[in-house]
Amino acid sequence: MNIELRDVQFSYGPVKALDGVTLQIGEGACGLLGPNGAGKSTLLKVLLGFLRPDTGEGLVLGHDIRKDSFGIRRVVGYMPEDDCFIPGLDAVAFTALFGELSGMPRAEAMKRAHDVLYYVGLGEARYRNLETYSAGMKQRLKLAQALVHDPKILFLDEPTANLDPQGRTEILELIADISSKKDIHVLISSHILTDIEQTCGSLVILNKGKVAAQGELAALREVRFSLYELKAKGETGPFLEALRHGECRVEETEDGIIKIYLPEAMGRRDVFRLAEESGIQIRHFVKSRTSLEDLFARTVGVD
Ligand code: ADP
Repeated sequence: MNIELRDVQFSYGPVKALDGVTLQIGEGACGLLGPNGAGKSTLLKVLLGFLRPDTGEGLVLGHDIRKDSFGIRRVVGYMPEDDCFIPGLDAVAFTALFGELSGMPRAEAMKRAHDVLYYVGLGEARYRNLETYSAGMKQRLKLAQALVHDPKILFLDEPTANLDPQGRTEILELIADISSKKDIHVLISSHILTDIEQTCGSLVILNKGKVAAQGELAALREVRFSLYELKAKGETGPFLEALRHGECRVEETEDGIIKIYLPEAMGRRDVFRLAEESGIQIRHFVKSRTSLEDLFARTVGVD
């Protein structure tokens, strides 16, 4: 296991940002998905040893998050959400500086800086002042500084933030390339499910400081509730009300299809019984594949 946390809590004064997080993350690329404010950035900072948890334990590649933040920083590359640029520097000087900060000798840091800048597609622009960079170039540069010391794990915090569709595709392709070809494990935080689906094999869903779901993407697509689509004849209001009363989430589409997410405690028979009791006829009733999007919406309560 590369990352393990047990019952980690962290508060900023009265704000509880992590509320008993227990998780295990294995090999490859893992997504850390959750709405804004879920605690993703805080979790990454706790894993880096920047923030000390109030309670709980954790290991990152065998390094204790409480005692060995120096060891963690040697093996982890971190791309923060916010810009971290130093005005007046060009990309080579900036990237090499981060190499030196993580303990590389100056000449080696400089050589690696050129290599990683070419790798992220900034070779031509590497002597330009950073302040002239576009949003997409800035994200690539943040990725370059995270890679310069040849880390074993990368933590990427909202890597697609502020990017247009083209920039987003490019950075996601780079991330996929890193995790598949470079033998680096990647933990990517995002509030956008498709970012994670394109790059990751496993997933942790965080909501309100707690882990709402975790596992392989393929397995998470399958379980937990059943999604059905139906059409009904008659006054559907009382029927939908009864379903909602039974803890069933209901959505109506514009073309008259009703989507229902049955919790494990309810079955098809219950739906037909409620329809009969509400005096409507079900005309069309099919089980849909439960997609990850549905799981995400249901776990964190957003659409
Ligand atoms: P995410 O990265 O998922 O958007 P964060 O980890 O940034 O979530 O934030 C989790 C919670 O902690 C939020 O309620 C946020 O407002 C709060 N928070 C984050 N940073 C600070 C801070 N420096 N001081 C006080 N509260 C903070």
